[in-house]
Amino acid sequence: MTLDRKLAILADAAKYDASCASSGTQKRDSRGGRGIGSTEGAGICHSYAPDGRCISLLKILLTNYCVYDCLYCVNRVSSNVERARFSIDEVVQLTLDFYRRNCIEGLFLSSGIIRSPDYTMERVVEVARVLREEHDFRGYIHLKTIPEASPELLARAGRYADRLSINVELPTVEGLQALAPEKDGQAIRRSMARLRIHIDDAKGEAKTQAPTSQPQVKPKRARAPLFAPAGQSTQMIVGADASDDRSILATSATLYGAYRLRRVYYSAFSPIPDASRALPLAQAPLVREHRLYQADWLMRFYGFAHDEIVGPGSGMLALHIDPKLAWALAHREQFPIDLNRAPRELLLRVPGLGVRSVDRLLQARRVRRLHADDLERLRVPLKKVLPFVTLPGQPATAASAMAALDAALHGAPHKAAPRQASLFDGQAGAG
Ligand code: SF4
Repeated sequence: MTLDRKLAILADAAKYDASCASSGTQKRDSRGGRGIGSTEGAGICHSYAPDGRCISLLKILLTNYCVYDCLYCVNRVSSNVERARFSIDEVVQLTLDFYRRNCIEGLFLSSGIIRSPDYTMERVVEVARVLREEHDFRGYIHLKTIPEASPELLARAGRYADRLSINVELPTVEGLQALAPEKDGQAIRRSMARLRIHIDDAKGEAKTQAPTSQPQVKPKRARAPLFAPAGQSTQMIVGADASDDRSILATSATLYGAYRLRRVYYSAFSPIPDASRALPLAQAPLVREHRLYQADWLMRFYGFAHDEIVGPGSGMLALHIDPKLAWALAHREQFPIDLNRAPRELLLRVPGLGVRSVDRLLQARRVRRLHADDLERLRVPLKKVLPFVTLPGQPATAASAMAALDAALHGAPHKAAPRQASLFDGQAGAG
């Protein structure tokens, strides 16, 4: 099989993995004529991270052969797809070639499981080792790790990769057992815990070795080896099982809290060829994935707890409005908020106010009382914000403004709300 054909197959097979944004790593470059690549380069961008950042990684599988049979995966052993496998050297050469042609900023490498988790992981790690040690490659490397691989291999992976990820795949243990019975939820979490310890240890050592402000003559010590400086991430498939948004966000909150993940990526399930009857027939609406990202953002940067975001009821986020506005409308007794007195954590709950706007408002408020025209100058979206705040000289219209907003959102005729396909739909159609 030609290299081009392998590339076509193994890049296509990797497209289902959403967890490959190249943000948050250490800055490196090859200025001064040393090494190749940088983590800040600009190349052809193939996709966007959920935060809007453009990414350009060579995103491939080492192989799409796999001995596992995860029902949602196009590469499962029972899938009738064309198979291919790269050698280690082929991946290394492709990465270097694409990098030199300014097509990519780095490599995202995952793999189906061949022979055993250790056998596969050894090869994935070897690609990163050769790039770093033999070619002094300084671009971004994201390795997808196999949770059942040995702790030593995971530790080696972290020495070469900027980011490591282990996919939890499904939000609940039951979901994983039903759709990926060979995967072990406990092993996934154990491996995440190990990675977290390695990352924390490396950061701790780096801190103790940071230069002090006192110029002292000290014996030179080797720098602490970095371990996955861009942290670890994971991916959850949305809509492949019956899990609701509440349980998805609860799982994310646990993962952020227990393993300090940098990111949880949400990937709307899309039907695959020859799919099992246990899967839905229709694709999960992309807007559901989008709402989950917004909710995730609220948990990480706006101080919302996961169980505040999805209210009692269906356990699902509203699809027609964003989760922050939905929360505000459901908690209107907390509004209006005095924009000149409210603490940061309350300002962050006002629809239309982002983290940056809030920080700008707090700064401006130190020197003067804010009026509506100040907000305009600070580029705050007045129409969105005014129903939820009070300002000097501004008539107290919060209650009526919110009622009008509510009526506009719920009363106006709108397109049929997108609906998540249920497992029941899938089974009924297939039967
Ligand atoms: S182990 Fe990974 S590649 Fe193999 S079937 Fe499961 S999800 Fe697909």
